Amino acid sequence: LTLAEKASLVSPSEYIILKTLLESRDKYDYMSEDILRSKLNFIDSEFTISITKLLNMKAISEERIQGKKAYRITFSGLDILAIKMLYVNKILKNLGLIIGEGKESNVYYGYDFDDNVIVVKFHRVGKSSYKNIRKLREYTEKKSWISITMDNAKKEYQALKCLNENYALVPKLFGYSFNAIVMEYIEGTSLAKSKLSNPKKVLDNILGTVRIAYTNCKIVHGDLSQYNVIIDQNEIPYIIDWPQWKKEDQNLLNRDLNIILTFFKNKYNVIEDIDEISKFVKGE
Ligand code: ATP
Ligand code: MN
Ligand code: MN
Ligand code: MN
Repeated sequence: LTLAEKASLVSPSEYIILKTLLESRDKYDYMSEDILRSKLNFIDSEFTISITKLLNMKAISEERIQGKKAYRITFSGLDILAIKMLYVNKILKNLGLIIGEGKESNVYYGYDFDDNVIVVKFHRVGKSSYKNIRKLREYTEKKSWISITMDNAKKEYQALKCLNENYALVPKLFGYSFNAIVMEYIEGTSLAKSKLSNPKKVLDNILGTVRIAYTNCKIVHGDLSQYNVIIDQNEIPYIIDWPQWKKEDQNLLNRDLNIILTFFKNKYNVIEDIDEISKFVKGE
């Protein structure tokens, strides 16, 4: 089943189960069947049917704890909750095909209620084991992957919100729910694969966005590269992929600028002075 098909099959009582498991994610690694039942007060058959269905679509997973069945919500379950909420809020009418799988997300085409093509990015922290270890060190408190993932989505939402309010060249933000960000679809190719006719202008536009991020939103992207810039038909560059931003971090800013300036120097022989550019983006 596709994600869209799964979401369309979930019944109201199954949503309640997902929501209950989500809300207790940091209290119980797996919630025992007894506790779950007592919170829900469903009739027995309804409970069993719902749990079986959710297990079959891998929206929840089961574990035996001291011989007893216990459950937790999966990333797919979280995706389903997000889709439902976005639908109810009239942000997302339909989910389409997958655009790409990033290291920390799955990105899909979607359709809004006017049938425009939009993008839905479902965050999933912990997809790659390397990042797992790094992130685990960052979070000393006991937090579930689900919580860490939702924190990430929220961070990307906050960045895009401020950048949108300041007219930066980033995808327009349409919505946010649990682990999902809904945004404008930028039709184009990555900066890495583009053949630019006016590279100097494109670089200026990218630096303009970095400047807005720093001076208006007080943030540094943190993963800026030719792979996180999409060039559209009018050769306008849009910077994507914002969840790892840090507040006014000088080292990170210099790293971001170095990567972009090196790319333009090597591929287009456009040469800029890093110190001058650094001052420019900081508004100095
Ligand atoms: P990464 O592995 O680079 O960290 P990620 O999981 O953080 O990836 P993104 O880089 O945000 O995810 O998105 C993954 C891919 O999906 C992008 O490289 C791009 O091809 C596509 N994509 C994301 N957002 C958009 C958008 N608004 N419009 C068009 N394509 C997009
Ligand atoms: Mn990346
Ligand atoms: Mn990316
Ligand atoms: Mn990323």
